[in-house]
Amino acid sequence: MEDLLAQLRGSRTDLARIVEVASRTELGYIVVPAGAVRAWEEREPSTWAKVRDWLTAKGKIVVEFEGQTRTPWSAATPPHHGGSDMAYKLPPLRFSYDALEPYIDAETMELHHDKHHQTYVDALNKAIEPYPHLADLPIEDLLRRLDQVPEAIRTAVRNHGGGHVNHQFFWTVLGPTGGGSPRGAIADAITKDFGSFERFQSLFTDAAAKHFGSGWAFLVMNPSTERIEILSLPNQESVLLHGKPGLLCCDVWEHAYYLKYRNRRPDYLGAWWNVVAWDVVDQRLQDCRAGRSSTA
Ligand code: MN
Repeated sequence: MEDLLAQLRGSRTDLARIVEVASRTELGYIVVPAGAVRAWEEREPSTWAKVRDWLTAKGKIVVEFEGQTRTPWSAATPPHHGGSDMAYKLPPLRFSYDALEPYIDAETMELHHDKHHQTYVDALNKAIEPYPHLADLPIEDLLRRLDQVPEAIRTAVRNHGGGHVNHQFFWTVLGPTGGGSPRGAIADAITKDFGSFERFQSLFTDAAAKHFGSGWAFLVMNPSTERIEILSLPNQESVLLHGKPGLLCCDVWEHAYYLKYRNRRPDYLGAWWNVVAWDVVDQRLQDCRAGRSSTA
């Protein structure tokens, strides 16, 4: 390994780090961003071939992963071993628990964010613990490429990872200054694809109200038709599994409304429209069109 590292010192890319990391980990694989592999193949194919041979000799499989990584060399960072430095964290709310009153009450917000969302994050971290290199990838990437996630944790990533991104998404599209009618690009898209805002609102409410059991209603962009559409998904299924970037979402699990609205889901939905942050939804649509949709 020292010989190889000495050779890599003159390398224009950061190939030396992958060797250092691979030599430190007990795991039989190393996750590498596919973009980095393409860059190595292009810029220094013979050096990369040497590294690849060395990895093979060490019994390390190179797992190429498409998508953004948290840091440019996330795959080449030392493995986490749990403890306080867990990979996934509960993001704080950008408003206070009572900011959405009277539409969504403070107690529901506190429980929903601090307990329910936290539980998904904790369960996800626990599931992924034996795969520290995967834990370094953004959860959105794991969901987009669920078929590449080890089978042993695929269901856990789908459920708890889905729960994490869905809630993260949900908190961003809510806000105390929300409600009313959308403006800008999102307003135009709604009029174009649904006829009118009123018609869209009634279709979305209907999808959310009639969803059987726990789940979500989403407004998504369909990349193949470039139209926006309503999607109703069960449990904690993420729109990322469907390759359709999310623009707006509504949580229709009972925990989202039961304290205040009891079994009256339609009342919750009627109130919910008053806290939709349309400026955020509009920004998501613009990001999506610009190919920047890295989030759910
Ligand atoms: Mn929820």
